[in-house]
Amino acid sequence: MSDDQSDPPVDAPDKSGMRTAKSLVLVNTGHGKGKSSAAFGVALRARAVDWPVVVVQFLKSGEWNTGEEKILGSLGVDWLAAGNGFTWDAEDLDESRALARGAWEKSKELIAAGDHRLVVMDEISYALTWEWIDVADVVNAITNRSEKTSLVLTGRDMHEDVIAVADTVTEMVSVKHAFDSGIVAKKGIDY
Ligand code: ATP
Ligand code: MG
Repeated sequence: MSDDQSDPPVDAPDKSGMRTAKSLVLVNTGHGKGKSSAAFGVALRARAVDWPVVVVQFLKSGEWNTGEEKILGSLGVDWLAAGNGFTWDAEDLDESRALARGAWEKSKELIAAGDHRLVVMDEISYALTWEWIDVADVVNAITNRSEKTSLVLTGRDMHEDVIAVADTVTEMVSVKHAFDSGIVAKKGIDY
């Protein structure tokens, strides 16, 4: 019997052979706009059904994402970024690399702990591309996640091993982007 009354029974096929899942792994990748904003949209849905949600930011964003952090934070989303939730030792490593490693160590704990039902790892793909974090470690954490914890991983050029273990993978394709015609990022639209 499920300990969560709001969830249907898991793995019981219906007449069409479809079944439910306790959790899902989503990847938003590609070079078009919409990877992070779609992830934050899922965070909204998760909060709408009262799931505990956490966003972990893998890249230092400066002013970027502060709007999302503020609004989602006011809706009860936990938000972990450099200097807030994890720190890093910058002695030997360059700052971005150390930040990504700190973000991953924290994410690994969150994924295993199961206190959150949604963990968003924003811009994690770059840490994999640059080999700041180990892809086998990431795949292992995803596969052995707490069973009711869903994940969203974002960023361009997501590693194929992560794509292989995800349930839903969306590639954003840029048909055109305002930036290409010389328009800078717009507050309220891009961040
Ligand atoms: P968003 O946060 O808007 O969903 P994203 O997560 O898909 O975008 P990133 O690669 O993380 O995109 O880049 C973040 C910023 O770069 C956003 O301001 C976004 O508008 C901009 N951006 C996204 N795609 C492109 C593109 N193809 N060309 C130029 N800028 C882009
Ligand atoms: Mg993004």
